[in-house]
Amino acid sequence: AAQEGFEAEEIEGALGEAGHGPLPVLAVVGRPNVGKSTLVNRIIGRREAVVEDRPGVTRDRVTYEAEWAGRRFKVVDTGGWEQDVLGIDASVAAQAEFAIEAADAVVFVVDATVGATDTDEAVVKLLRRAGKPVVLCANKVDGPSAEADAAMLWSLGLGEPMPVSALHGRGTGDMLDEVLKALPEAPAQRFGVAVGGPRRIALIGRPNVGKSSLLNKVAGEERVVVNELAGTTRDPVDELIELGGVTWKFVDTAGIRKRVHLQEGADYYASLRTAAAVEKAEVAVILIDASETISVQDQRIVTMAVEAGRAIVIAYNKWDTLDEERRYYLEREIETEFQQIAWAPRVNVSAQTGRHMEKLVPAIETALAGWETRVPTGRLNAFLGELVAAHPHPIRGGKQPRILFGTQAGTKPPRFVLFASGFIEAGYRRFVERRLREEFGFEGTPIHISVRVRE
Ligand code: GDP
Ligand code: GDP
Repeated sequence: AAQEGFEAEEIEGALGEAGHGPLPVLAVVGRPNVGKSTLVNRIIGRREAVVEDRPGVTRDRVTYEAEWAGRRFKVVDTGGWEQDVLGIDASVAAQAEFAIEAADAVVFVVDATVGATDTDEAVVKLLRRAGKPVVLCANKVDGPSAEADAAMLWSLGLGEPMPVSALHGRGTGDMLDEVLKALPEAPAQRFGVAVGGPRRIALIGRPNVGKSSLLNKVAGEERVVVNELAGTTRDPVDELIELGGVTWKFVDTAGIRKRVHLQEGADYYASLRTAAAVEKAEVAVILIDASETISVQDQRIVTMAVEAGRAIVIAYNKWDTLDEERRYYLEREIETEFQQIAWAPRVNVSAQTGRHMEKLVPAIETALAGWETRVPTGRLNAFLGELVAAHPHPIRGGKQPRILFGTQAGTKPPRFVLFASGFIEAGYRRFVERRLREEFGFEGTPIHISVRVRE
């Protein structure tokens, strides 16, 4: 368990910094002993990362800042992730997967004096699939006589092998020039959502649930249309609205205005517009007409927002019209139809009377907070360790798959990667998700969990 914990700490250093920093991230991956750490030392121009002449030497820091030709970036040394727990191939594959998750570009180091091994080929496949830019470093080319070894690595299909001697510094400048070409100026927007400006809300729901009434109620005369586009009245617009002392951007609100709904294909366009609004938004406020039975269309809209990975608030509108009987049935419908979003904050409102309008903003803020939550890897693994000990995965085919460790790879929404020793069943995944929510909150946000299996 101690070793697994240690691995996790290493990943924390790497992912934690890689996920936050404003600098682009370069990951250095490759088999043990190809010279990754030596190369990282070259790149950072320091002797900080200890290199020892034996495999399996672990290092406590893995992310460094570096500069080349006036550009700064981060370098992640995966050299310390050793095979003790996972076995060599699995450990190298984990590095490659890490690079896929967290890096903007990858230096793949191969020992040119050994040539490409099966493990190297396997990593190439992973890297290719990820589509991240890769610079192939043919290391240990200490002199001109070894250049032919480097040329052999064309066979990997990753483009020109850069002949390098990390030990002596030969060729590292040319390689770094290639790295700079491959690295973007700023880290990638990894989770598909633009940042900055007012928080973006999509107010969605099927026709006649009360979207425009709600918007009018909360905003009154203050609605400011910010990008009225030329063309028909169908064009979507964004509106800036101040609520609770904060300016919010309601995106694509044209569908919200009162329109002549009933022409051919109106539903289709309404759902396209909903999808577009959800794409642009950070949080979806989904309006449900509480006076009517929850419909398939309501569920489709919910699914759309969940699948887009947005923070979610559910507002049950027209509360003023509900009698006791309807309230009873509504609760039963919510239990059965909206099980999948039991985690979403809920408000019972009336756009007509203004009931509970003041609860809308706190609910939105709660959902956004959940959406942005980051669990430190140390805490996550302490939690996973206890969970796995107390509730092991059921034995299958004489084997017991185990979650070895995990890390949060991203936020907005929270995304987790769990490393496991075997196939983790869907039921157990759901169990892990439930317990994660119990432990860390995540109110108002979908969470993604992916499992990497080490054979
Ligand atoms: P890592 O496990 O991939 O991080 O590899 P290390 O950086 O720890 O290097 C493994 C061994 O290869 C060490 O003994 C290094 O001194 C040696 N080494 C690294 N780069 C070179 C190189 O360019 N030329 C030669 N001859 N040896 C190197
Ligand atoms: P939209 O199509 O979602 O924008 O829905 P509208 O805002 O146009 O509302 C559709 C109808 O429902 C209108 O007749 C509204 O007056 C009515 N409505 C909206 N909100 C409420 C509410 O909270 N209570 C009641 N009783 N009627 C409402």
